[in-house]
Amino acid sequence: MPPQAGSGAWPEGEKLTGNTVFDVILAILLGLVIWRMSLAVIRMLSTPPTEVDPDDVVSVDQDYTCTVCGAELTMRAVNVQNVQDNAPPRHCREEMVAVWRPS
Ligand SMILES: [Zn+2]
Repeated sequence: MPPQAGSGAWPEGEKLTGNTVFDVILAILLGLVIWRMSLAVIRMLSTPPTEVDPDDVVSVDQDYTCTVCGAELTMRAVNVQNVQDNAPPRHCREEMVAVWRPS
C-alpha cells in the first residue's frame, strides 16, 4: 500500500524501490547531488563582485522620473561597463523616463 498523503512518517516495512541496497545507493547518489549543488550555490554567492575601474565611470547630468510613482532622480555618474544599450534606471519595476531640463 502506498503511503497516504499527509500521514507524515514513511510506513514501516515499506521501501522506496523495494530493494534495500538500491535504496541506499539511491540515497547516497541523491546526497552527493544535493551536496554538489549546495557547494556550487555557496561558491557562486561568495564570489565578490569585480572591482570598479575608475576609467569606466563617466560624469553625466541626467534626470529621470518614474512613471508609476512619480519619484525623480538625477544621475551624476554612470559606469559604462554596466550600462547596457544606454538603458535608463528602473523604479517600481519599470524603466524610468529621461527628463530634459534646459539649464
Ligand atoms: Zn517608482
